[in-house]
Amino acid sequence: QVFVVGSFVVACSVIVARLPRAGESLDAAAFVSEPGGKGFNLALALHRLGFGITGVFAIGDDAFAAIAESAFAGSGLGGEMLVRHPGSTGAGVGFVDARGENCLAVSLGANRLLDAGDVERAGPSLDAASLVVATFESPDAPIRAAFVRARARGAATLLNPSPSRPIDSAILAATTVLVVNRIEADDLGLDGSGIAEGGTGEAARFEALSAQGPELIVVTLGEQGALAYRRGRWFRQAAFPVAVVDTIGAGDAFAAGLSEGLLRERPIEECLCRAAACGALTACRLGAFDAFPTAEALDAFLAA
Ligand code: ADP
Repeated sequence: QVFVVGSFVVACSVIVARLPRAGESLDAAAFVSEPGGKGFNLALALHRLGFGITGVFAIGDDAFAAIAESAFAGSGLGGEMLVRHPGSTGAGVGFVDARGENCLAVSLGANRLLDAGDVERAGPSLDAASLVVATFESPDAPIRAAFVRARARGAATLLNPSPSRPIDSAILAATTVLVVNRIEADDLGLDGSGIAEGGTGEAARFEALSAQGPELIVVTLGEQGALAYRRGRWFRQAAFPVAVVDTIGAGDAFAAGLSEGLLRERPIEECLCRAAACGALTACRLGAFDAFPTAEALDAFLAA
């Protein structure tokens, strides 16, 4: 079982011929919305891979809260994971033009109000989980509470510090697996053209970060695949060549695939391969919600 310190966002996109200018009102071609948020995506991707999911997700007291309830029910995730806070449910609004160019803004709303008390109330399910995962769409306090409690009984924790902010030292100390993309790696000082090569200069930086907590550090590099560092050793994983539709959710799918491998105690090379396959399969399909592969789809893709 996996416990998710979650986030939920209703992602709304307006499809337009061109992006509007300030003050302009455009006639749009279409409107699409789908349930998302990094925490929800991780939970959904892990659920599709066959894991039981528990966790906490904050929603508001507005009309979008009902979208969250039906998204959880409709995707097979338990609605008891939702906790209500005052204010608006997380929502994102974006414009996508004919060339696929886009601009968007996300209001985390109630997600910002998730607190350590919410995690404590979910204590029994947290204590039954073998892995606890979190992203930075959640505040530090609930992540810290969940990770410290999990580590106290030896359970594993995975952090995807996205959107990027400095990592609280107590959270870092309680993180066993850290998954970052290029931007987050850069913010952690793992900078450099050296990342893709995993050169000796990089080793000292990865080792210094690892000494503060994470046993395994994985950097995802988009179409260049991923690089991992564990106890002085580098592991490289190429991206699978696929016909990309959009890469929305690829990072979340990668983290879910990596978690699956680690929970099933597969060798690290195999974990990274399955993670990259999940990322690639998600990049082949529009959006995120329908794009995350099932365990069967993942195995079929890898067997092909
Ligand atoms: P994020 O979306 O979080 O920035 P990345 O862009 O690094 O993360 O993508 C996560 C993973 O998804 C990559 O490590 C890779 O395995 C897979 N992936 C992303 N983009 C592609 C692509 N164009 N083709 C194949 N795989 C991809």
